Amino acid sequence: MNVKVTFVGTSHGIPMEDRYCACTMLEIGEAIYFVDGGAPVIHALLQRGLDPRRVRAIFTTHVHSDHTMGLPHFIDLVNWVYKEHTVDVYLTEQRWIDGMHALHLGMDIAPLDTNRIRMHVIDPATTVYEDENVKVQFIPTKHLGDEHPSNAILITAGDKRLLFSGDLSYGMHMKDFPTVACEEETDLFVCEFAHGLTFDNLGKYFDACKTKRLYFNHVWPMSKLADIEAAKEKYPFEVVASYDGLEIEI
Ligand SMILES: [Zn+2]
Ligand SMILES: [Zn+2]
Repeated sequence: MNVKVTFVGTSHGIPMEDRYCACTMLEIGEAIYFVDGGAPVIHALLQRGLDPRRVRAIFTTHVHSDHTMGLPHFIDLVNWVYKEHTVDVYLTEQRWIDGMHALHLGMDIAPLDTNRIRMHVIDPATTVYEDENVKVQFIPTKHLGDEHPSNAILITAGDKRLLFSGDLSYGMHMKDFPTVACEEETDLFVCEFAHGLTFDNLGKYFDACKTKRLYFNHVWPMSKLADIEAAKEKYPFEVVASYDGLEIEI
């Protein structure tokens, strides 16, 4: 089955006039999944004529606002509008989930129905999401050092494999590149490109990368778009700087 990938938000930590923060939507058959929710998820769906009740699960790479702040409104609407709908949301820390509940109570509306809005804390060692469409695994990274967790996300959908780096350590000083990108074949690898990351400190990994498509998101500074453009000649796989609204089918 094909996977339709929509780059809903591709900005780095701060939104831009033409870019929401990190958020990628996957459509597989009738089901919809999100990787990170830094863009307004509910609007991303409605603006594309997609029924929000098609969203099965949302996977996040870490708790930073540019990866999660589009989620509270969606979760709130599942709670009181789409009342027959169930969604799984995977987060890296319990404190975000506690904050979501507190925010909800602060809005003086019904408590979140945790039977339908199932928020899970990811343990990369043991957490696996699996349904009839996808198997999703989490690979630890060191974006937040040793203090707080972060993870890359590997999605297997039939014979297709998609890898999302999430945010990585500054300048790769924690050597947390998800090396599964070099060890196993993927159809799409979405790699962040802020945090002092360059073709110098990531080059050895890209040289060994076994993907068919290397797409960058979360690029900063934007002058690095020129570096990505120049790298297109260098690699045997497709190299693309993603942008909001870009859709591909793999
Ligand atoms: Zn980020
Ligand atoms: Zn971050």
